[in-house]
Amino acid sequence: MTPRPNVLAASGLDRAHLLRRDAGWQAERWADPTSRVLAVSGTDVAIVGDDPPRAGPTSPTRLAPLLDGGRAPVFLGLDGVAAFFAADISDSPLDDRAAALAPGRLAGLRAVGALVSQREGGLLAYAAAIVAWHRRHGFCGLCGWPTEAAEAGHLRICANPACRAKHFPRTDPVVIMLVTDGDRALLGRQAAWPPGRYSALAGYVEPGESIEEAVAREVAEEAGIAVGAVTYRSSQPWPFPSSLMLGFTAKLVGSADVRFDDDELEDVRWFERDELREAALAGDVLLPPPVAIARRLIEDWLEDV
Ligand SMILES: [Zn+2]
Repeated sequence: MTPRPNVLAASGLDRAHLLRRDAGWQAERWADPTSRVLAVSGTDVAIVGDDPPRAGPTSPTRLAPLLDGGRAPVFLGLDGVAAFFAADISDSPLDDRAAALAPGRLAGLRAVGALVSQREGGLLAYAAAIVAWHRRHGFCGLCGWPTEAAEAGHLRICANPACRAKHFPRTDPVVIMLVTDGDRALLGRQAAWPPGRYSALAGYVEPGESIEEAVAREVAEEAGIAVGAVTYRSSQPWPFPSSLMLGFTAKLVGSADVRFDDDELEDVRWFERDELREAALAGDVLLPPPVAIARRLIEDWLEDV
């Protein structure tokens, strides 16, 4: 069974990768008034409307002045016959932005990601992720020379003739797992979170490590316990700036006594299913926001899905 997609995934775009190398076609689409471009500034994305908001793409013609001399737009793909692009407008003057985006505006992707439609959330996350990658990879990690965008923004190539290293958009895998023991689940909280917020344990996959090993290591590091059966649930792009969340459930083996390092987490504890349901309803425990895969992992468990 294919799991239903998470928020921020499933844009539905045809990424049309073979057209990325066709510079002439790309230029024609950028000049085409029916093409659409999504403006991005940091983790803010272009939206329009309020109830609910929608993705707010505009025409390349309107946005082009904001890019004057700046970063080249990135071709995202095709929605039917319409070409979609993403553009980084974070270096443009605020007044110019407002005029180019009206009646839309920029809004934080974390805030609007779960309010827009599934496809639009996927589209905005895709745009934010690829724009963030360009901003962070302006220089070659091998020789330090500037890099230049290629293949419609899906590759950067070192400008040093003696190097010419190719740099591809990066995605950093993160495992996030709801550890269960019968009718209870393990949640933790970071000191910086709002009071009462608890979530599933999570951490980056390290080099030379399988995702199953990463799940076991992170749970051991963060809670001092061991897990046995690890079951994949679903995944989610998390472009803050470049993560891919890999969601699992994992079953406790051995001792349930929790030991944690309070440098990393402020609290880690077991919640009975009924206890968590009631505490969340009463507002005593804040579940992760709806935009996060952690919310889905916890809700699926509460509903015994
Ligand atoms: Zn280089």
